[in-house]
Amino acid sequence: QPWRRFVLIFTIANNMLRLHYFDRSGLIISRPTNILKNPVRLLEVLNTLTLAHPNNLGYDPTMHMCDPTCKGSHADLRENAVGWIESHDKSHLSIMSVLWRSQGFFSRGTICYRVQTSDGTEYALKDCWVAEDKKNHEVTVLKMVEGIPNVVKLVADWDVLYDGESDCTYRIRASHGVCASGFIRRFHRRLLLTPCGEPLVLYSLKLELLRAFHNFVTAHELMLGRHVLHGDLSPNNFIIHDGQGYFIDFDHARIIAEGAVSVPSEGTVKDLQLS
Ligand SMILES: [Zn+2]
Repeated sequence: QPWRRFVLIFTIANNMLRLHYFDRSGLIISRPTNILKNPVRLLEVLNTLTLAHPNNLGYDPTMHMCDPTCKGSHADLRENAVGWIESHDKSHLSIMSVLWRSQGFFSRGTICYRVQTSDGTEYALKDCWVAEDKKNHEVTVLKMVEGIPNVVKLVADWDVLYDGESDCTYRIRASHGVCASGFIRRFHRRLLLTPCGEPLVLYSLKLELLRAFHNFVTAHELMLGRHVLHGDLSPNNFIIHDGQGYFIDFDHARIIAEGAVSVPSEGTVKDLQLS
């Protein structure tokens, strides 16, 4: 899997064994155990790691990436699929490729997949861990800009469920009673979007690129008319589909208050550079 729900790492230093638990909200380190004084504890750890169900090692049961042993053996997937991911109706969407994944474990951990339904309809699927106070922010913004040409369209959004409940970094921590002050709950969310295009840098002709920029300027003005400032104009946040440019990624979008003419800056501070 491109990412896991959480990662467990064991370290031994000066004969002291520690467990390090990482998820999107941060890190927890266990109290140390001396493996010379308590060798059974070390055996228990090795035993647990070896026999644990993959779910208990952080694997996400709502998706699957194929390996050489299973590739091509899934009757419900599209040809050339590299895996599947659960949709909001529990059906399997075929993963055709991983479009983009964020670096580092903390924070959103965004991954974008190119997916297809069983009838071949293609979408972009965004998988991310969103802070509780921004849980529905991107969805709210996408609904505000719905219908504007050259802006990616939201098809569906949902909480990823684990054991029948919304998957959240709080669930594991609460069971150990270790939610420190400043802890931010992050919810595992998925957004299904259309169209699924190519990165801006893969433009085929300069004319196509110029046309895409014209699309962006027009769409940006229309979004401002609906009190939405995209706020993160970096090359990663534009795609080209069928010769048209589209805005994507509204994580950093700002909603401009009625009557206001500016919002505090946020997002990627980078010039768009063309080479
Ligand atoms: Zn497989």
